Order: sequence, then structure tokens, then C-alpha cells
Amino acid sequence: MTDWVTFNHSWAYYVDSSNFSMQKITGKVPVGSVILTKRKEELDTGMSIINTDYHYAKASGVVDLEDKRAATKILTEQVFTFMKKNNQYPPGAKYKKSYKNNNVDVSFDISEYDKFTLRFTPELVGDDPEMFLMNLGTAAKRKFIPKDNWKIEAAKSSRAKCQTCGNNIEKDALRVGEPTYYMDHLNYRWHHFECISDDIWGIPKENLLGFEGLSSEQKDKVKKTLW
Ligand SMILES: [Zn+2]
Repeated sequence: MTDWVTFNHSWAYYVDSSNFSMQKITGKVPVGSVILTKRKEELDTGMSIINTDYHYAKASGVVDLEDKRAATKILTEQVFTFMKKNNQYPPGAKYKKSYKNNNVDVSFDISEYDKFTLRFTPELVGDDPEMFLMNLGTAAKRKFIPKDNWKIEAAKSSRAKCQTCGNNIEKDALRVGEPTYYMDHLNYRWHHFECISDDIWGIPKENLLGFEGLSSEQKDKVKKTLW
């Protein structure tokens, strides 16, 4: 049984260390979790940015972490524990870079906005980190849960460029709109469906606007690929 502690914050998530998904906090959080809280800051330019603060859930209550580095250190140990137990990378983690001194960096994207670089050292692994990581299976697939709704449609013109491959998206081709904000205005970056489908695998249907408006062949293709 996991113990939970109370934590109230208007905009907070914890990293579930059993599957490394990011969960919204609604009043309580499992002991041992890294917590991310978000706050919006208005800049002089009129633009606003989102700041993240890091915390850790102890049995006695939630404590503040000094910075992202402190959170990264805890996550590194949790990811290493997961790897030893499951013999694979957790969702969102992949090999990034190795160094002459045998350290290895693993990139770890817990959400589209929260990305960490975990450093695996011989001290942590108790062995050569590169050997340890090479023997792991690839990451389990994780369902993509977006913060904002994405869009799908048949391209209305051939003017948009795919933001993944850089080629034009031909009229009538299936295209996916990624929500982005510029100066608080919602906008979409377009991708070929084929170019982005791996990244949005498992996206809930209600977060993919426009699906119902597709042709039946297009619907079948989307269903087969994403769900
Ligand atoms: Zn493309």
C-alpha cells in the first residue's frame, strides 16, 4: 500500500514512479513522489511564461526542492530502480549521450513541457552505465495525454509545411494540428498524420478535435494507428 500525504495547490502534478506518467494533484499525493507546481508569470513585454517549481513528498509532508537539479537527482534514482526491476526503459526515457568517463545521459520527457536529462554514473549503476543501458529493452509505449486539444483534418490547401519532416502537406492529406501559444493566442503547427502519429499514440479521442468530420477511410486509418 502506498501512503499518501495531503497537498493542495491550484496547479500541480506528481510523477507516478510506477509508470512515470504525470498525474494532476487533487488534494493528496503518494509519498516518495516528485511534485511539479506551475505558475504563470507576466513579463514586462506583455508575454507570459510558465514557471515550474519542484517539491518532494515525504511521509511527514511535502518539502520544497532547491531547483530542477535536485528533482532530476531523485528522478534518476527512481528511473534506475524502475529499469532494474523491469529490465527496460520507462516510458519517455531514451539513451542520449555517453562520455569518456563512462557517464551516460538519458533524456527523460515526462510531458511535452517537462524534460529532464538524467546522468547515469558508474557509482549509481555499480557497473558500466553504457553496458547496463544497452542490455535494457526499449521503452513501453505510453498513451499521449495532451494539455490542450489537438486537431485533425484533411488539409484545406497545400500551403502548410509539415513541422516534423519539412515537406509540404498536400491538399486533402490527413494533417494533425499541434496546439501552440504565441502571446497567449492559440495557434496550430501542422504535421503529416504519418509524421506525428507515433508521438500522439493513444491520445484520447475527445482531445483530437475534428475526428468525427473525417471520411470513413480516414477514420479507419486514424483508429488503426492511434487506438
Ligand atoms: Zn511530414
